[in-house]
Amino acid sequence: MIDSFGRKINYARIAVTDLCNLRCVYCMPEEGIEKKQCVEILRIEEILIIAEALTELGIDKIRLTGGEPLVRHGFLTLVEKIGSMEGIRDLAVTTNGVLLPELGQQLLDAGLKRVNISLDTFDRDKYTKITRGGDVNRVLHGIETALSLGFEQVKINVVLMEGFNDDEIKAFTSLTIDQPLDVRFIEIMPFEGQHAFAEGRFLPATAVLHRCPELKPVTSEDPSAPAKYYQFPGAKGRVGLIEPLSHGFCSSCNRLRITADGHLLTCLHCREEKDLRPYLGDKEMLKQVIKKEIDRKPGTHRIGDGPLMERDMGKIGG
Ligand code: SAM
Ligand code: SF4
Repeated sequence: MIDSFGRKINYARIAVTDLCNLRCVYCMPEEGIEKKQCVEILRIEEILIIAEALTELGIDKIRLTGGEPLVRHGFLTLVEKIGSMEGIRDLAVTTNGVLLPELGQQLLDAGLKRVNISLDTFDRDKYTKITRGGDVNRVLHGIETALSLGFEQVKINVVLMEGFNDDEIKAFTSLTIDQPLDVRFIEIMPFEGQHAFAEGRFLPATAVLHRCPELKPVTSEDPSAPAKYYQFPGAKGRVGLIEPLSHGFCSSCNRLRITADGHLLTCLHCREEKDLRPYLGDKEMLKQVIKKEIDRKPGTHRIGDGPLMERDMGKIGG
């Protein structure tokens, strides 16, 4: 579908749960997300109805996210069924990697080809602190598992934080030299619940280029991708910079977001959202409603000068 600003909308991120087995300080409150009544969270069949409507409207790329998608009961079924929908060209998952050692093989067998794994530090104590209790060795094992199983693409997402992990920029970028993976640095975004933490820790992603002047720009195969890519000469992988605050990417934004409770967001940083649940019984009506929302997708967002997002990332899915 083409929106009113001429952008081709072909990418949907679907949060399959808002629960998580970690509590990253920039993402979730310490007590986590209150376990929503089962009736509020979309059932697997309901997610499939939405995914089908989206693909019939021209969405050909879906990312399953959360909360932590791998903790969702029925997740493998979702991967299998969405992956085999007509029109789906690309199905990916964003995960904290904790359960990849156990589930990696099953995800591959279910047809998953691409996986993004979030890791902000290699240091055991820092990791435990930022995730409020996580064990970094599990994620490192998860990354090894993903690489050894031979997923088509493995990306590491690093949220950049001044005074927390800026001393590890080189260690992260070095991973791309010998391994066929992309490391992407994401600028920290302020959300209503967590903005006190984000304040004062913002570091522009270009800091990576200052620390690693050998990095040279490379053209991305996907012009709507939010990351700008760089590479060390002769490296197997790439380094990506995602700069929602320094350089918005609204003009090429091709994405929609579906929350775990069935709301459609056409922009990460705008407060408007549409509850899709009343339309799940009638796919044609559902498609009309989604179409109407796409027509209303804003041309740009007001991150930085507008009101902060009410929902945390853990509820939107990143
Ligand atoms: N649990 C999964 C994970 O951590 O990868 C998927 C959901 S998580 C919300 C998706 C992505 O959003 C992660 O890469 C995470 O680091 C990022 N994220 C969460 N809160 C953020 C914030 N305030 N600013 C920037 N990125 C954030
Ligand atoms: Fe959980 Fe991912 Fe949010 Fe961390 S970033 S609390 S792993 S949803």
